[in-house]
Amino acid sequence: MSNFKVVKFGGSSLADAKQFRKVADIVLADPNRRYVVASAPGKRFSEDTKITDMLYACYAKAAQGEDFSADFSAIEERYNGIISELGLDLSLEKEFVNIKDAFAHRAGRDYAASRGEYLNSIILAAYLKFDFIDPAGYIKFGENGVFDLEKTISLLRPRLEKSEHAVIPGFYGSMPNDTIRTFSRGGSDVTGSIVARAANAEIYENWTDVSGFLICDPRIVDNPEPITTITYRELRELAYMGATVLHEDAIFPVRTAGIPINIRNTNRPEDRGTMIVAESNEASSYVITGIAGKKGLSAINIEKDMMNSELGFGRNVLRALEKNGLNFEHMPSGIDTMSVIVSTDALKPVQQSVLDEIKFRVKPDHLEVEDDLALIAVVGRGMRKARGTAGRIFSALAHAKINVKMIDQGSSELNIIIGVATEDFEAAVKAIYDIFVATQQ
Ligand code: ADP
Ligand code: ASP
Ligand code: MG
Repeated sequence: MSNFKVVKFGGSSLADAKQFRKVADIVLADPNRRYVVASAPGKRFSEDTKITDMLYACYAKAAQGEDFSADFSAIEERYNGIISELGLDLSLEKEFVNIKDAFAHRAGRDYAASRGEYLNSIILAAYLKFDFIDPAGYIKFGENGVFDLEKTISLLRPRLEKSEHAVIPGFYGSMPNDTIRTFSRGGSDVTGSIVARAANAEIYENWTDVSGFLICDPRIVDNPEPITTITYRELRELAYMGATVLHEDAIFPVRTAGIPINIRNTNRPEDRGTMIVAESNEASSYVITGIAGKKGLSAINIEKDMMNSELGFGRNVLRALEKNGLNFEHMPSGIDTMSVIVSTDALKPVQQSVLDEIKFRVKPDHLEVEDDLALIAVVGRGMRKARGTAGRIFSALAHAKINVKMIDQGSSELNIIIGVATEDFEAAVKAIYDIFVATQQ
């Protein structure tokens, strides 16, 4: 392992010239920060629009054959504003002309979105005086659209070796036929992880606008405490349940190589942030490591006497979902009852067909759909040792007059999942935070 650091800066860290200056200070403070992965400019204030969203909207017009020039000019202005405020001797005019032309020729939605990081990285490379590496030639997806790690490492590693310092746009790569393909939203985190792996970095620093992974979403609890150390597994549970500080797929490329991820705050570089590691012997400060949750869920509740003794019952229920292309989030079960929790948006178009199929396959005594559900995951490696964690959650929620619809402990004892009504979601997260964190200080 080398002592290189790969650093990724998110959209808010590169939203305007002022943020670019902070980024340069951070990067240039340590010569080991050799490879920089950049996002597209994000929001400068809460009602602002991210460049990526502007590009999607602009391209939607282009694809419809509508006039998109005003939308495109607004995008150009954001970049030109950054360039002029930084006093750079750089013009993106040629790039703008090419991109506009590609839009008019319907180069594709992924291509359109990818230009956000592409253009921003050209500016950042010029500002830092680093090389620019276009990931289109190095980050590869297979024919099936699945990211190909092996191929990518074999192409990217020798390319990185040629540059002492480089900026690499996040969020995209290319298909075998060289068309651009993006990761899902927030995918620059994934690029950072891939570059860290290809460079065999000592650490992957992910710079954002919060001082690490916080115990819960700062939009729900004011100033929640940051988590100092979290394991990949804990993080994955939280990320999957909606704590979107880091893209959930960003863990895989670095995980097998044992490269830690450090979440840091561009606006407070002195804070140590959160270390994400393979295993941690460090006791967590609290019984729980973090809380996250998802709204917009529905439960399909199935009751049938003696269902447990009926061979293949669960499989038949899941087949009914599979046949309708429906994924499930969670599946708590009792002796004679079983619930399958799914996304409401995904369920609605196929609801009748799913219910008919379940009736046909397992002939339940009772079958109903319950909407407006939220799930909350309470995650922590410390829960294995602590007793009565579920009990404490129950009493905290009862105290806050919140009705618990479901509670389920994962077999790894790493998480407890709680189902509540959507309207109780925020209050439930607060109550759990209070009982495990706020009142422990
Ligand atoms: P970036 O643009 O740097 O990639 P993101 O917006 O993707 O940043 O992620 C950072 C944001 O994630 C924070 O500003 C915060 O609002 C949100 N967030 C949600 N849950 C958490 C959490 N548990 N800890 C920290 N931030 C969280
Ligand atoms: N710019 C992309 C997005 O907004 C990717 C990223 O920010 O990570 O989703
Ligand atoms: Mg992000």
